[in-house]
Amino acid sequence: MLKIENLHAGVEDKSILKGINLEVKPGEVHAIMGPNGSGKSTLSSVIAGKEEYEVSEGSILFEGEDIEELAAEERAHKGIFLSFQYPVEIPGVSVTNFVKTAINETRKAQGLEDMPAKDMLKLIREKSDLLEIDRKFLSRSLNEGFSGGEKKRNEIFQMAMLDPKLAILDETDSGLDIDALRIVANGVNKLKGENNAVIVITHYQRLLDHIVPDFVHVLHNGRIVKSGTKELAHELEEKGYDWIKEEVNA
Ligand code: ADP
Ligand code: MG
Ligand code: MG
Repeated sequence: MLKIENLHAGVEDKSILKGINLEVKPGEVHAIMGPNGSGKSTLSSVIAGKEEYEVSEGSILFEGEDIEELAAEERAHKGIFLSFQYPVEIPGVSVTNFVKTAINETRKAQGLEDMPAKDMLKLIREKSDLLEIDRKFLSRSLNEGFSGGEKKRNEIFQMAMLDPKLAILDETDSGLDIDALRIVANGVNKLKGENNAVIVITHYQRLLDHIVPDFVHVLHNGRIVKSGTKELAHELEEKGYDWIKEEVNA
């Protein structure tokens, strides 16, 4: 599904990613961990196609297609979803209306008509029930006065509604309380299927107690310096990142 080869990327004259190789197959959950500043968010932004980052070398293939020239929006239409680290507030636009628009824009890009209102309603019911989202929440203005947990709930609802092929969840290094953790984990575990893949980016092992990854990668200084299974996440929780840095520098 996703194949990243020798990816080098950065901003202006600063190089951030220095040769990333990563392959994600349908049905897999990959966790990317690593110390602050190692390039985790940059990697997710580059996959999603954020314009501020420049790819200088290497390639990103999504379902066999080189996506480098595609805008973020086009990548989203192909089924790449990136959670918003800093969601914007849109007064007057409800949680539901925002997601309806996103779905219909995706359909339009695929040459399809708008989803019939009846089907949309059914989908909204199905997904909100699945994620235990209150109906009242769906009519609230997007992100206006949302708590941390509510922002997560909105994000996961968008993900469930859009049903992306590849979901990338970039979790901030702070602010994931138990409620938010549960919402994210629950959403990911329900999205997971043989045709979907998930990349979870996190600084903390805690989230991985709830989402069991098939692979764990450690990013350090713009490179994946270690890959393993979920045991690696436990090892990091116990020993921190210093031993990996030492290994790399040895
Ligand atoms: P992480 O998510 O692992 O904490 P980031 O990808 O956010 O790391 O950042 C990696 C490095 O790249 C940091 O040194 C950060 O300051 C730098 N960086 C990231 N984005 C930008 C940007 N838009 N402009 C300048 N420097 C950036
Ligand atoms: Mg950071
Ligand atoms: Mg980050």
